[in-house]
Amino acid sequence: MRLLLFDIDGTLIHSKGAGRSAMKLALEEVYGQSGPLLKYTMSGKTDARIVHDLMTAAGLSADEIEAGLTAVYDCMAKHAEKVYGEHSVMPCPGIPELLDTLEARDDVLLGLVTGNTSQTAPLKLAAAGIAPTRFKVGAYGSDRMDRNQLPALAMERATTLTGEAFTGANTVVIGDTPADILCARAGMATAVAVATGWHAMNTLLPYQPDHLFENFKETTAVVHALL
Ligand SMILES: [Mg+2]
Repeated sequence: MRLLLFDIDGTLIHSKGAGRSAMKLALEEVYGQSGPLLKYTMSGKTDARIVHDLMTAAGLSADEIEAGLTAVYDCMAKHAEKVYGEHSVMPCPGIPELLDTLEARDDVLLGLVTGNTSQTAPLKLAAAGIAPTRFKVGAYGSDRMDRNQLPALAMERATTLTGEAFTGANTVVIGDTPADILCARAGMATAVAVATGWHAMNTLLPYQPDHLFENFKETTAVVHALL
């Protein structure tokens, strides 16, 4: 059995700025400001990391930031349906066919490793027409601030769920940013990169993913690389 851990934004779906809009609303509601959000690079970062960076830049203490985190997550989830609807969130090319093909196999377990919180991840997938229940395990931006810790957490949860031992040897991390490749390495997992997000092939290549795709349209080739 192979554990396939998908990133969400830029990999499974095009979120088109929906994450930034939801974060802005939540930070303003909870902390009264959103800090340098507009010029901040969010890609590849966990939501916990983003909140800490932005509110530290705005002058808040670590304790003050920590005290508002749960409220920020709740707030993003509360506004999710409206915000995601406004940004016409949609699946990345080839993803519906790829998920159908993978789901039909009995030798793969689909999971998520994403910077989104455990509350917003399913809402974002659903907004793009992807049933979140297709993913049996996940590790989220609300679990850890450091993305590099997420693959190991997802493997642990997959092992608990199935009774089968998941390690880096039978796990693949799939994502669209250098941070996804680095977190695959941190989990000793196979790294599959795709250039459907903010990063072009030539930006991802120097990070030496095990496989690199322009997009996931060629289902057969992608399945071959994943398995
Ligand atoms: Mg991404």
